[in-house]
Amino acid sequence: MEIHIWKERWAAALREQHQVLFDAKAKSLKPEFVEYINCPVCDSPRSSFLFEKDWFRYVQCRNCSMVYMNPRMNLAATHSFYNSNANAIYNEAKFKEVPGEIHIDDQINHGNMEMLDQYRNHQKGVFLEIGSAKGALLSKAREMGYEIYGLELNQVNCEYARRKLGDTILNMDLSEARFEAGKFDVVYMRDVIEHIANPNSFLHEVSRITKPGGLIFLETHNIESWINRFARERHVVIFGFEHPNHWSPKTLGLALSQNGYVVQKTMYASLDCTLADMLDYMVTPSFTAVFPQPVGRVKRLVAKRLLAMYRRFRVVSLFDRKYLPRLANYFRKGSVMKVIARKSD
Ligand SMILES: [Zn+2]
Repeated sequence: MEIHIWKERWAAALREQHQVLFDAKAKSLKPEFVEYINCPVCDSPRSSFLFEKDWFRYVQCRNCSMVYMNPRMNLAATHSFYNSNANAIYNEAKFKEVPGEIHIDDQINHGNMEMLDQYRNHQKGVFLEIGSAKGALLSKAREMGYEIYGLELNQVNCEYARRKLGDTILNMDLSEARFEAGKFDVVYMRDVIEHIANPNSFLHEVSRITKPGGLIFLETHNIESWINRFARERHVVIFGFEHPNHWSPKTLGLALSQNGYVVQKTMYASLDCTLADMLDYMVTPSFTAVFPQPVGRVKRLVAKRLLAMYRRFRVVSLFDRKYLPRLANYFRKGSVMKVIARKSD
């Protein structure tokens, strides 16, 4: 399918779902879909307003610096979104119709797997992936000698993976699975923790099913990254329907330590940390915006001029693509962080 047709269908479905959940007069979530919370990491009630996008409000905890949505969608609202047309259309693109994307996901997953295996000195064991999609990573893990388990909520993807990898791929969430204590050597999750509304109870359960000395691997965007600081609410990851929580190295480390883990290693990757990306965020709203915010004429003009200049001078773009991401990673301001933590003995 043509990408622009997909984008139109997606935008229409997103607006429709927004109407279901929001009261247009009050510009806030309808009473039956709303909940107010304390900080999901440290439980402090004190926070400062950060920004708003599509009537979703984001705050920062004044005690631990966690960035979270408040008020946020309650369980009923979240279920409504995951069963909506918008979610079905999103999954088409993520898992089927944009071939390039699958390729990049596979590459990243394989790189992570190699790194984890090296970190464990090639020692194998029992491996769980939470959010295993079509099972690309798990099939690599099995190839390397791990005994594999997967949890995948999307039924179509789960069935696909079961046919390929067997019945240890389950169509349920972590709390439903009720794995026995200390079962796993490694628990892996990529682009998952930002979806989890109550990270403390989630990580507590992950810790329970992990062997003492076992590892957890998490990959998520870094809200303290240069690109997120610059683009703020315009960034594609600021997506209220799916991401109630936005992590930094500090807050993720804190949540892990509260649940019996010691962080061993934090790495960064910055696919979208270039000047070109920053300028682009100034002129083009991301596809996750329900009401794309028009940019002021002057700002837009400046960004366009800079982009044109940027394209003319190859040295600049070369430096930009090659060194800016590395600098960001070096200063712990990379776009995405990958954390390995060990469960205490
Ligand atoms: Zn806090």
